[in-house]
Amino acid sequence: MRCILLNPGPVSLSDAVRKAAISNDLCHREPEYFELQDELRQALLDVYGCDHERWAAVLLGGSGTTALEAMLTSLAPRKARLLVVENGVYGERISRIAEIHGIAHEKVQHGWQDPIDYERLEAALASGTFSHLAAVHHETTTGRLNDASKLAGLCEAHGVHLLLDTVSSFGAEDMPFDSPALAGCAVTANKCLHGIPGLCFVVARRDALAKGVEPPRSLYLHLPLWLEKQDKQGTPFTPPVNSLLALREALRELERHGGWRGRRARYAKLARQVRDGLSGFDVQPLLEEDASSCVLTAYRIPEGSDYVAIHDGLKRWGFVIYAGQGGLEKEMFRISTMGDITDYDIGRLLAAIETVFKR
Ligand SMILES: *Cc1c(COP(=O)(O)O)cnc(C)c1O
Repeated sequence: MRCILLNPGPVSLSDAVRKAAISNDLCHREPEYFELQDELRQALLDVYGCDHERWAAVLLGGSGTTALEAMLTSLAPRKARLLVVENGVYGERISRIAEIHGIAHEKVQHGWQDPIDYERLEAALASGTFSHLAAVHHETTTGRLNDASKLAGLCEAHGVHLLLDTVSSFGAEDMPFDSPALAGCAVTANKCLHGIPGLCFVVARRDALAKGVEPPRSLYLHLPLWLEKQDKQGTPFTPPVNSLLALREALRELERHGGWRGRRARYAKLARQVRDGLSGFDVQPLLEEDASSCVLTAYRIPEGSDYVAIHDGLKRWGFVIYAGQGGLEKEMFRISTMGDITDYDIGRLLAAIETVFKR
């Protein structure tokens, strides 16, 4: 039985993407590879209509965290003072990266279930202490969609550069690429873009890359090196060629399905169906619908039930859901509607939900 992944990445693949991944053996020093790399770098900028002169997509091998760490270590100059917004696991991960690499930073902390306190954030930015703000767009911990354009607006007002973790939102939510404050965002191939794991990338302003860190903080994670080679049809290290093949196919599908807007509408429709199905059994979402991303919804575990029973019950039907992280394990479970999920799959999921939650 095909397992349908309702965890927030890696996602269920379309047959075409799965086949594309193993369609060809490619040497990364041959022109066929460089054509693929060029095509992909252009296509990634086109997802949000980014100007090819001003922006660059820099590809590298690794998971979403690789892109995040590369972005932070490359785009924060040695003199940078970073402010980090935390309202979940991934915001806290940004601070951890800054700490490991000795990037001077402070945090605006929130509880994992809290929205960003924009007034508190603005007061911190208004102190004039910070050169960069780093935040998570879609905080996958709870499914909360932080307001990226509001963050960009605050950064503009205070002359601060914005670095965004858009790992679980790029391809399915609106992004503030028109804001001059946005310097870069970190992304993976295997979430909203429906590619396979192994490839991640940073979409960054070329001038931010040019004014980045010197000397490098890392050999592998230093984006200017990747940029220099990729701009000249090269690559500094062995890239995950199969992931590039898969992502090319996945981006063609994204375009056929109406780009990020089409994908957002599709995710939102499926998420609503799941929400309605669960509400029939008194399973309540953690957040208001308008605070949640279209990508993932967190639900409270109803009294008298537990995560293992829900997970195992749904897995018997071929659906993999996701537990809460950290302290939220006992309180909630999460269902993502990313990936190649059909109406038929959702119909079966609703039937499975009925069996699992019926008392
Ligand atoms: C998935 C995710 C990441 C990266 O996770 P990896 O396991 O390294 O791919 C980072 N930030 C957010 C918001 C995510 O959802």
